[in-house]
Amino acid sequence: MNFSESERLCELLETSGWRETKNPDQAGLIIAFGCSVRQKAENRVISFLKSHKYLKEKGTIFCLAGCTANLHKEKIFNYLPFLDIVCGPNHIAEIPEIVDNYSPGRIIIKTGEKDSPFIECIPSKKNITIMIPITKGCNNFCSYCVVPMARGKLQSRKPHSIIEEIKNAVEQGIKAITLLGQNVNEYGKDFTTDYDFSDLVCEILKIENLMRIGFVTSHPEDTSEKLLSIMAQNKKIMKHLHIPLQSGSDKILRDMNRKYTVEEFLQVVETARRLMPEISITSDIMVGFPGETKQDFEKTLSIIKEVRFNELFIFKYSPRPMTKAFELPDDVSREEKEHRHRIILETQKEISREILSSFIGKACEVLVERRSIKNPLLLIGKNIQGIPVTFKNNQNLIGKIVNVEITGYEEGILFGKVNGEYL
Ligand code: SAH
Ligand code: SF4
Repeated sequence: MNFSESERLCELLETSGWRETKNPDQAGLIIAFGCSVRQKAENRVISFLKSHKYLKEKGTIFCLAGCTANLHKEKIFNYLPFLDIVCGPNHIAEIPEIVDNYSPGRIIIKTGEKDSPFIECIPSKKNITIMIPITKGCNNFCSYCVVPMARGKLQSRKPHSIIEEIKNAVEQGIKAITLLGQNVNEYGKDFTTDYDFSDLVCEILKIENLMRIGFVTSHPEDTSEKLLSIMAQNKKIMKHLHIPLQSGSDKILRDMNRKYTVEEFLQVVETARRLMPEISITSDIMVGFPGETKQDFEKTLSIIKEVRFNELFIFKYSPRPMTKAFELPDDVSREEKEHRHRIILETQKEISREILSSFIGKACEVLVERRSIKNPLLLIGKNIQGIPVTFKNNQNLIGKIVNVEITGYEEGILFGKVNGEYL
């Protein structure tokens, strides 16, 4: 979400005359997008800003944006007294005007919830893929999660705004989109009509020359058979589902307020695989939630072995202010969290390797995205499961779907050779 918002803000700033630089020493303005989901992410943005504080002397304006800004508001000055602008996610579109009218010495704080428009501007960089935010915030209140406090309540973007943006993007050469939301299946729940996420996807499917549609994240509770059937019936929809499980213990899921049981989660996986045997399923797992016993952890490990996810994002529980779980004792020691994290990481590494090796000898339809920066002889794209594929080729195939025969894999990337015509 932060990545997408920063990409859009860059675009707005460029329209008002700013130019992006990768070198902070050259910057007249530094905007750091802070993620507040885990303490570690927050520490990272704070130390990034601190390490560039020396630029203050030459007049660089410092802005903290993203949900960290919203969560801490003026309290963030206790850590970062030299900030000039603190701007939460709902006010990002105001940054160009703020910086254009900025006079040194002023402190500007723009935080809090308000129904704000989505930033409707398409990044003009010559990419063929784009992320399209479709919801802001979240109404789920999982007990560990700060998102509802940091990003506010669910706000779905109007369908016509999404469709218009995608049509414009396609006219500019975009071939693939990823719809973005904390829980895409919640899309439309704040509308007065019964228009839902499946309706939106069906409308997007009608857009000509759009080759692929993906989405992230899906909450297990709301991943309906209706949506899975639409996915199965449409070649344009990515065969990839990111459904965070978090824990394999029903007790922990209940304490997390996740609103599904392990059995119900397995049911979603079973339906998805029945309808789309080739589907890639990825997930998030959290270890060390308050009260997670060794037995709870063993249950998580056993589900991971049973489901065999393509890939996992594994997090160590981190207490977050204003959440329900913050009131519970953080009673799994740091060492134990590390230990559980490592065991899952190693187990998953092996499963991911086995899954990737099963592609060897098979053909994949790869939408080519770009040339490799490290080795320009190589093209890089994604197959329909969203797995990166690279192959050697000197033709201009960017934006085309190419049949690639997989010959090997390394570090999560498949490689292969071109096999037959371009689609
Ligand atoms: N909306 C998504 C998740 C968004 S946050 C969903 O509901 O699935 C991404 C991931 O960060 C979560 O899936 C969770 O595993 C992790 N996470 C969130 N809060 C956390 C916390 N307090 N400590 C550790 N990990 C956390
Ligand atoms: Fe956080 Fe739960 Fe909402 Fe995901 S669904 S953003 S984990 S509250």
